Amino acid sequence: MLNRVQLSTGTAEQTRAVGRTVAGLLEPGDVVSLTGDLGAGKTTFVQGAARALGVRDPVVSPTFTLVRQYRGDRPVYHLDIYRLDRVQDVLDLGLDEILDGTAVVFVEWGDAVEGLLPEDHLEVELTLPDDTDRRLLALTGRGPTWGSRWPRLQELTAPWREA
Ligand code: ADP
Ligand code: MG
Repeated sequence: MLNRVQLSTGTAEQTRAVGRTVAGLLEPGDVVSLTGDLGAGKTTFVQGAARALGVRDPVVSPTFTLVRQYRGDRPVYHLDIYRLDRVQDVLDLGLDEILDGTAVVFVEWGDAVEGLLPEDHLEVELTLPDDTDRRLLALTGRGPTWGSRWPRLQELTAPWREA
């Protein structure tokens, strides 16, 4: 069974609200992989999610640092591997430690390192259907833990469900 839901938002604040809502289902060890063109709203989504996880510091695009760690109710990592073109560069970030199961981890351009992520993870694919502020968010839950959380995720994201 494919656990997939298609959402749409009309403002950045709505995308943050989706992030906050999804964050309510996240536990230590969870990985959220975000894909989508530059400006699609990946970082915006993480801003909402991180806030809901108790992060008070502003979440900005980790373009120059590639990885940021935030202190929330649990440790939160935010990776942006946009500029990394070798798997070794990602490993050099200390991915093993980051994925040790104690933190919630958000990875922008996560598809580039799909093979390095745990089987259980949530994919968020953001697309711009037109030149307005509208964004489509396709959420795919991979692995058994997302299977069991899926009914709840569908219920919570119903306000943004794409018709
Ligand atoms: P990415 O991390 O994918 O490159 P960002 O989240 O940094 O994208 O940037 C998204 C930009 O688009 C922000 O300036 C944000 O305010 C704007 N924006 C406009 N509408 C939306 C929307 N519906 N969802 C997310 N961002 C939006
Ligand atoms: Mg970004």
